[in-house]
Amino acid sequence: MRVLILFTALCLSVAVGKADIVPKKSIALFTPEQIQRARQRLANEEPARRAVQDILQMAQRWAQFSDDYLRETIPPPQVPRAFNISFSGCPVCGRETFKYGNYGFETPLEKPWKVICPNCKSEFPSNDFGAFLKSGMKDRSLLTGDYPDDGWGWKKPGEEKKYWFVAYYCHWHWMRHIIPAVHNLARAYLLTGDQRYAHKALVMLCRIADYYPDMDHNKQSRYATEFVPSYTGKIVNAIWETGVATNLAEAVDFVWDAIDGDAELQRSLGKDADAIRQHLYHNLLMEFVKAIKEYRISGNYGMHQKTLLTTAIVSQDPELLKWSVDYLLNNTGDRYTHEGLQFALANLFFREGMGHESAPGYHFIWNQEVVRICDYLLRAGVNLFGHPVVRRLFYYPFELSAAKGFTPTIGDSGSVEVSRIDLPTWMAEIAYCQYGDPLFYPLLPKPQDNAQRAYTGFFDLFQPAFPPEPSTQPDTSPYERSRLLGDYGLAILRGGQDENQRALTLYYGWAGGGHGHYDRLNIELFAFGRKLLPDLGYPQFAADDPEPPGWTQHTVSHCTALVDAQRQANFARGRLHRFAHTSWVRLVDASAESVYPGKASLYRRQTAMVDLPKADAFYVVDVFHVQGGKQHHYSLHLPTADVVYRGIAFPEPRRGTLAGEDVPFGKMYDDPQRANATSGFHGYTGSGFAFLTDPQEAKSDRPWLASWRQGDIRLRIHWLPTQPMRFIACNGYPKGNRANPPLKYLMAHTQTEGTEPLRSTFVTVMEPSRSTPLIRSVSLLPFSPAVADTVAIEISHQHGRDVVLLSLTPEKRVQLPDGITAGAAFAVLRFDSEGVLQRAFVSGGEVARGEWQLQARDLQGTVEKVLPDTHEVVVNLQGNIRAEEALRHRAILFRAGEHRADYEIFRAQREGKRWRLWLGDYEFLRGRALVGEIDEAQRVVHTPTVLALDAVAPVQGMAVSNEARSAWWRLASARRGEVVLDGDASLAPLRADSDGDGRSVLLIWDFGAGDSVFTPGQAEYRR
Ligand SMILES: [Zn+2]
Ligand SMILES: [Zn+2]
Repeated sequence: MRVLILFTALCLSVAVGKADIVPKKSIALFTPEQIQRARQRLANEEPARRAVQDILQMAQRWAQFSDDYLRETIPPPQVPRAFNISFSGCPVCGRETFKYGNYGFETPLEKPWKVICPNCKSEFPSNDFGAFLKSGMKDRSLLTGDYPDDGWGWKKPGEEKKYWFVAYYCHWHWMRHIIPAVHNLARAYLLTGDQRYAHKALVMLCRIADYYPDMDHNKQSRYATEFVPSYTGKIVNAIWETGVATNLAEAVDFVWDAIDGDAELQRSLGKDADAIRQHLYHNLLMEFVKAIKEYRISGNYGMHQKTLLTTAIVSQDPELLKWSVDYLLNNTGDRYTHEGLQFALANLFFREGMGHESAPGYHFIWNQEVVRICDYLLRAGVNLFGHPVVRRLFYYPFELSAAKGFTPTIGDSGSVEVSRIDLPTWMAEIAYCQYGDPLFYPLLPKPQDNAQRAYTGFFDLFQPAFPPEPSTQPDTSPYERSRLLGDYGLAILRGGQDENQRALTLYYGWAGGGHGHYDRLNIELFAFGRKLLPDLGYPQFAADDPEPPGWTQHTVSHCTALVDAQRQANFARGRLHRFAHTSWVRLVDASAESVYPGKASLYRRQTAMVDLPKADAFYVVDVFHVQGGKQHHYSLHLPTADVVYRGIAFPEPRRGTLAGEDVPFGKMYDDPQRANATSGFHGYTGSGFAFLTDPQEAKSDRPWLASWRQGDIRLRIHWLPTQPMRFIACNGYPKGNRANPPLKYLMAHTQTEGTEPLRSTFVTVMEPSRSTPLIRSVSLLPFSPAVADTVAIEISHQHGRDVVLLSLTPEKRVQLPDGITAGAAFAVLRFDSEGVLQRAFVSGGEVARGEWQLQARDLQGTVEKVLPDTHEVVVNLQGNIRAEEALRHRAILFRAGEHRADYEIFRAQREGKRWRLWLGDYEFLRGRALVGEIDEAQRVVHTPTVLALDAVAPVQGMAVSNEARSAWWRLASARRGEVVLDGDASLAPLRADSDGDGRSVLLIWDFGAGDSVFTPGQAEYRR
C-alpha cells in the first residue's frame, strides 16, 4: 500500500510539475571536465574551431542585437504558423515556385514578415504586418494592398484555400532564426564562457518561456484550420516540436550557471535569479514534459523519447529521470510511437534493424533516435547495446546497400539520381566503441592538423579521443554477396567488383508502416554507379495533392505490374518462393497476389541476374506472371527519355496523356469523386495514366529492343512477347513535375473481352553495359509440352549462347531444342561458340542433355529445436547434402500455418542426422506483449501492447511462449488488444513473471519446433 501511495504521488508531481522547488542546480548534459576539454580544444585546435564556426558566427551576429529587439522579434502565440504558404504555390507564378522545393519561399530576417517567391521574386503580403501586430492585431485599416494578410491568410478570388504569408514567415522565423539563434547563443556560451552569449540567450529564453504555455498549434496554425482539425503541436507541429523542445532544453541547460551573475537580466525582468530559474524550469522544461504527455510534442518513433530524456536529464529531478527511463523502456499500451524500447524493439522493428516503415529515409530516423536514446540511457546506467536488434541498427546500412553508392529507393526516400543511407560519423563512433568491429573504423574521419580527434559538430568537442585503430582489416564480403532481408521483405542480388558492382533488388515486404508506396514486386537496378531502373523516390508533396497518390506512390510509376488499370489495393507483404545465388547466377522468385485481393490469382515475378564472361557484363531475365482481371500492364522505365527502338514501329506520340487525348496532365479522370476535387486525393485507386504523357502505342508479337545510352553507359531491354500484346512508350516525370526531365516508361499491355480471367506472361531481358554490349540476340525457345507457367529463353552472345529456363511448375518436365530436357524452377546452361556446354546452374529440379545431367532438388524438413539466444536452429533436412559448405548462404523458409519466415543460413554444422544452422545475428522474436487478463475458455490473452504483427505478415501458426520459454503454444490470431492461442494446453504458465520485474510477458516467435522448412536446391556445373 505504501508503495502504491508513493507511486501515485510520484505520478502527480511528475504530471503537474508545479511545485516551487527547482531541483536543477547546474549544467547537466556535460561534466565540468568535458566543458574544460571543449574550451581547450576550441582554443588550441583549428579543426575544433572549424567544426563550430557556424555556431559561433550565428551567436556573434545575434549577440549584436539589442535586448529589446530580441524580445520583440519573438512572435506571440496569437500569430499563426504555417509550414507551407499554399499547395497551389505562389499567387503570381503558381506551382512553378515548387521547382525550388516545398519550402522555397524566403523569409529574410532583414525584412520582417515578408516572404519572397524564389521563382518570380514577388514579395508578400502587401501590408506591414509588424504594424498590425503592434495594434494588437486589431487595426484593420492597416491591411493594405493587393495581398493583405492579418495572420490568418489571404484569399485569392476563386480559390477555396488561402495563402498564408504571415503564418509561413512566422513558422520559418521560429525554425530558421529564433530557435537556432537561442540554441547557438547557448552553445557559444558553453564553448567560450563569454557572458554576452549567455545573456542574449537568456533574454530570448525568458521571452519564449512567457509565451510557451499558450502555444497551441491546434488553434494557431494553417494546417489545423484548413486541413486536419486534430493537427496539434506547440510553436510548430507536434513532430517538428520535438526538435524545438530538445534544442530549447539544451539551451536552458547550457546557460543555467549564468543566471546568478546576470544582473542586467534580473533588473530588466524585475525578477531575481531564483524567479528566473523557476520561470525557465516550469514554463519551458516542465511544459515540455506536459506537452509530451498530451502528444503535442510527438514525432516519429524516438523523437519525443529523446526530447523527454534530454529534458529529464536537464531538469536534474531524480524522480523525473527515473520515471522517464522506466517510461522509455517499459511503457506499453499507448500509441505505437510511444511504446517502450523493451516492447518496441521486438514489436516495431524488422529483425534486420529498421523501424517499421518502408522508406529507408524514414526508418533510418528511428535508428538514429533509438541509438541516441541508448547512448543517453548509459547515463542512467542502462546499456541496451547488447540487444540483437540494437546491434542491427548499425549494420543495416551495409546490409541494405545495393551497389556502390546506393540504398534501394523504397517508399518516400531518395530520388531518381540518388538514394543513400550511410551511418553518420557519430553512430559509427558509438558502434566502433561498443562493438570494436573494424567495419566501422573507416567511417571515422581522420584527425587533421594534430587534433586530438576529428570533429563533425558541437558534441564532438566534448567527447574523448577516438579509440585506437583496429589491428585487423574490416570484412566487407558479407555486403558484397547477394542478401535476403527476409523480415523487411527485400531480396538484393549483388554481383561485380569495385566499379563494376551491380545490384538488382526486388521488394516484397510490408509497406504499411507509413511513407510506403504501392510497389510490391517492384525491381530496381543499379550498375556502374547509376540507377538504371530508377524508382522516383520522394514525392513532390508530403501532403494532400494529386501527385503522391496518383503518381509517385502509385503502382503505375513503379517497375511492376498493374491489374485492371488500378493501383495495388493495399500494402500487404508478398511471399518469397525462392532465393539462390552463386558467383555468377542469382535468382529471386516472389509473389504478391494479396495486393489485388479477389482479382489476381497469380501475381508473381521471377528475376535472375546472370554474369557474362567479362567483368562488367551481365544481364537480367525478368518474368512476370499475372492471372485475373481483364487487363494487365507490365511496366519498366529508363533513366531518361532518350530511347531508340528496333523491331517495333511506334507512331508519332499522341497528344494528351495515356489516359486519353482530352485528359489533362495529373487529372484523376477515372475517379468521379476526385476528378475535380481540390483535396482528399489519398485513397485514389485509378490508373494514374494521366501522369504519363506523349504516348506511343504499337502492337507486336515479335521480339523488339529498346536501347538507352548516356555516355558509355547503356541499358538495352529486349521485349519478348509470349502472346498478343500492345506496347506503350510514354514519358513520366519525377515528382510528377513537368519541369523535371522525363523518364521513358515502357509498358506491355494485355487485355481480354472474354469471361475467362486473363492470363499474361511478360518476359524481358535487360542488358546494362559499359562499352560494347555482348548480347547479339535474344529469343524465346519453343518447348513441349507447352505450358504457360514455364518460359525458356535463348541468349546469344559473343562467347556463345545461354539457355535460361524459369518455371512455376518444376515438376512438369519439358523438352527443349538441342536435346535438353528440364524439370526445374530455374536453370541456366551456357554453351561456347562450338556448342560445348561450359557451365550450368540449376535450382529446384534437374536438367539433362544426353548423358549429362545436373540435379538440385529442394530440401524439405522440420524444425527440431530453436535456440534463440545463439540465433541457431536445429533442423531435420531430407535430401542429399554433401557438405556443410553446401548449406552456407542458402535461403531457408519456415512455414507454420499461414505464417512464413524467410532467413539465410550463415553457418551449418552436422549433428548426427540433423543440422544445426546459424541464421546470422538476427533476433527470432517477433512479438513481446504484456500479459493482461486471460480468458481460458476463449483462449484469449488480453494485452495493452501495440502489436503490429498481423499487419506485417500473416500470423496464424506462429510459435508462442511464456516469459521463461518453458511453455509453448501456437498463435491463432493477434490483433490490437488480444492474442488468441490455438490448442487446449493451459494458459496459466503465461502469468509467471520469471525475471521478477513485476510484469509477465508473452513472446511470439518467427518459428518454433515442428515448423516445416524449405531450402531451395541449387547445383552448379563447370566443365
Ligand atoms: Zn512566384
Ligand atoms: Zn516508389
